[in-house]
Amino acid sequence: MHTSALVLFSGGQDSTTCLAYALERYARVETIAFDYRQRHSVELDARLAVLREIRSRFPQWAAKLGEDHLLDLAVLGAVSETSLTRDTAFKMEASGLPNTFVPGRNLLFLTLAAAVAYRRDLQVMVTGVCETDFSGYPDCRDDTMKAMQLALSLGMDKRFLIETPLMWIDKAATWALAQSLGGQPLVDLIVEHTHTCYLGDRTHRHPWGYGCGECPACLLRANGYAGFSQSVNRAASPCD
Ligand code: ZN
Repeated sequence: MHTSALVLFSGGQDSTTCLAYALERYARVETIAFDYRQRHSVELDARLAVLREIRSRFPQWAAKLGEDHLLDLAVLGAVSETSLTRDTAFKMEASGLPNTFVPGRNLLFLTLAAAVAYRRDLQVMVTGVCETDFSGYPDCRDDTMKAMQLALSLGMDKRFLIETPLMWIDKAATWALAQSLGGQPLVDLIVEHTHTCYLGDRTHRHPWGYGCGECPACLLRANGYAGFSQSVNRAASPCD
């Protein structure tokens, strides 16, 4: 019986949904993020706002929400030349991967998260990786997660469970999952306080939240929200 979880929580839509998922299931939940000198500190600021809003708006979850961990991972910026850490434009590379991809980044995150989970005696790690929208990221695939779960469990001699509630759902279904977990208040919180835009834009407000509206992350979020809104409207009008 699992009772405690560590959520890899970046302050984006996906990881906020994962945090709600964990708070709904487990008695004790902690959060972790990594500062690897992203071009924008917007996401790191967003995660503090999300934690604050969850504590104030969801008292049933606030009691379970424990420590937040932020690990300095500047070394990742030093070994990677990517558009998130350098001033180069976002583009797709010949490999079919966007140049934001940091090779093996997620493997490093999970390893460090497991070390913290071990120390904090947390049994489950929850991460918002997904094969549906970004099948190009090999360190987000289901097989990789299963291999990491085995490697970390063997390497630390402790049975870890890696949960990936978003693995097989698209962005519209991620919005729907948030609604099923926390109703409209959680959807509103995600729209207002989470951050997704690659450019760090917090000046343009759309129905789906803040962002430039044009980068791949914004387009994915906007399209998902449109699909989610359509299905909500369909459900609300029985004549359809
Ligand atoms: Zn954007």
